[in-house]
Amino acid sequence: MITLFDVAKFYQKNGQYFSALKDINLQINRGDFVAITGPSGSGKSTLLSILGCLDRPSSGQYIFDDQSIEHASEAVLSVIRNQQIGFVFQSFNLIPAYTALRNVELPMLYAGVPAASRTQRAKLALEAVGLAARVDHLPSEMSGGQQQRVAIARAIVNNPSVIIADEPTGSLDDETTYEIMDLFTLLHNSGRTIIFVTHNMQLLRYANRVIHLSKGKITEQRIND
Ligand code: ADP
Ligand code: MG
Repeated sequence: MITLFDVAKFYQKNGQYFSALKDINLQINRGDFVAITGPSGSGKSTLLSILGCLDRPSSGQYIFDDQSIEHASEAVLSVIRNQQIGFVFQSFNLIPAYTALRNVELPMLYAGVPAASRTQRAKLALEAVGLAARVDHLPSEMSGGQQQRVAIARAIVNNPSVIIADEPTGSLDDETTYEIMDLFTLLHNSGRTIIFVTHNMQLLRYANRVIHLSKGKITEQRIND
């Protein structure tokens, strides 16, 4: 469902080109559970931004669901992001003034889902992540693990085929980390493609594929059995 062909990403810094990704060739199939790991600055977040259509490659080809992305308009990209991809970040990225319910409703607001249906679907998504009792809570009234669950509910509420998570357990303690990884496993078992970045070697076993990045290049790809 995802193919990267000779993808590179350059940034311009003080008039000099800096290469954050190079020679990236990668195929991700529907139903894959992919872990991406590597040192800080190796290009993991840059790769996720490209995979998640938040950014475009500087060169090379990106095909998402048979659609060529590298020259797609911003309008097309934003529809793909809203409908096909769910995002989860290390710092949860919830709106502090919004309850759990309203945070989860947001992607549907952008998608134009009517209010009654929005509320119903948001409640179902919060139920699916074990937070039925927290719908009216603000982020500040919840633990880190609970906030990440809200973020995951928000990521799945439009029923995307792919979930992209950048160090989703980076701010969580061990116990909560495993709870969140179990939740991703559940989502994977229900047919979703999961791509996550981690520094935690203990979490690589959750994935069926592990990709190592170093200095912007893929240095190792492994299939877990
Ligand atoms: P990682 O997530 O593996 O820590 P990143 O993908 O965030 O690495 O960054 C890879 C490299 O690209 C780093 O050297 C970083 O400084 C650089 N970089 C990332 N984003 C930008 C940007 N928007 N502008 C300039 N340089 C960037
Ligand atoms: Mg990063």
